[in-house]
Amino acid sequence: MRASRLVGFTAGALVGGMSAAAAYGTVAKSSQMFGPSVYRGPGNRKSIALTFDDGPSESTPQLLEYLDAEGIKATFFQCGMNVHRLPHVAGDVAAAGHEIGNHTYSHPKLTFKSRDFIDREFTAAQQIIQDETGITPMLLRAPYGFRWMGMSQVQAKLSLLSVMWTVIGYDWRWPAGKISDYVLRRSSAGGIVCLHDGRGVEEKPDILETLKAVKEIVPRLRDHGYRFETVSEVLSD
Ligand SMILES: [Zn+2]
Repeated sequence: MRASRLVGFTAGALVGGMSAAAAYGTVAKSSQMFGPSVYRGPGNRKSIALTFDDGPSESTPQLLEYLDAEGIKATFFQCGMNVHRLPHVAGDVAAAGHEIGNHTYSHPKLTFKSRDFIDREFTAAQQIIQDETGITPMLLRAPYGFRWMGMSQVQAKLSLLSVMWTVIGYDWRWPAGKISDYVLRRSSAGGIVCLHDGRGVEEKPDILETLKAVKEIVPRLRDHGYRFETVSEVLSD
């Protein structure tokens, strides 16, 4: 809950004049106000999904190498603009067997945007991900977790389910130890962990703390009996 409250706080500042209900519907991880959305699986087995947003980036290959060595399949919510810049990295993510979701083309905040704008962002990302990886995403994650009016129609058109998270690691601003402690304390069966292999559509982002945190989180969750699944797997019974 705390993660969504913190995100809600940011959104509260952002959306100023909105009603409390609309602000809640925009950012709350359990909100269905702007289309079907999930934030965890049924939790009937001890599995967790690691998700990485804002890639692919120049640093994604280091993460792929680690996940491959550990035999872990994760889920990457990619931005179309990053796929355009680094198509071979996007292709490598797919070739390694990871799940790929849609994180818009240019990583905008969707609040107060028109339905056409939202449609263009998700449709353009869907297209380039398909072209470069051969995968048609079935999942989306809204940038900053901000959903908005028009998303349900866009989701229906592209057959995309919105995926929020059970815990977000604040890996764009915290050191590795704090990220991993925070994630580990909030991990539970069926959980979805949000981390980042990019920083928006920035070129050559520094994701060193994220990489270090992942290398702390994975062995400790395994010690606690967890196995890793993609988001689609975690959502299934
Ligand atoms: Zn993002």
